[in-house]
Amino acid sequence: MNKILTTPDPRLRMKSKKVSEITPEIKKIIQSMIALSLDWEKSHPHELSAAMAAPQIGENVRIIILRNDLDNKNDTNFTVLINPEIVKAEGVLETDYEGCLSVPRVYGLIKRHSKIRVKALLDTGEEVRFKISGGFARTIQHEIDHLNGILFIDHIKNQTDAFFELDNKGNLQPLDYETEIKNNRELWGEDE
Ligand SMILES: [Zn+2]
Repeated sequence: MNKILTTPDPRLRMKSKKVSEITPEIKKIIQSMIALSLDWEKSHPHELSAAMAAPQIGENVRIIILRNDLDNKNDTNFTVLINPEIVKAEGVLETDYEGCLSVPRVYGLIKRHSKIRVKALLDTGEEVRFKISGGFARTIQHEIDHLNGILFIDHIKNQTDAFFELDNKGNLQPLDYETEIKNNRELWGEDE
């Protein structure tokens, strides 16, 4: 039985392997990812589980799932991307909030490319290539990072005004950078 891993689980830091064939085991991993994403959401009333990468449930294979509607919790459909690759990163670097099912409590302001070109396989095995921008482009960059053992907090370096946490009303409140780094170095696997 899979569960959502959180920091500092070392499996979150491993590079995931390519999927060579869409076997029943691979399909089972995808089903678990979707079920666990929706399950997580039930206990997080102010948050939406936008996406997940397979290593987040302890499966180090290159699979991500992406919510079809990032703003509507009632739409529980996901698109599955297998062996996703960013063919080209374009546009400008935009800063926005990111959180992660595997990094409890904390949100961060992270820079990402505003437009990307992506190549991937669907769960049918069909190859797709597409250009995407906005929230989906950000989410795909975050999830592909997971496949390479990278977490969004790794992108926050010597920055003030970058860490936040949700208060009980669902609003983001700033956290002190130095305190967060000091308190969470062990948890996040940061080097001294
Ligand atoms: Zn994440």
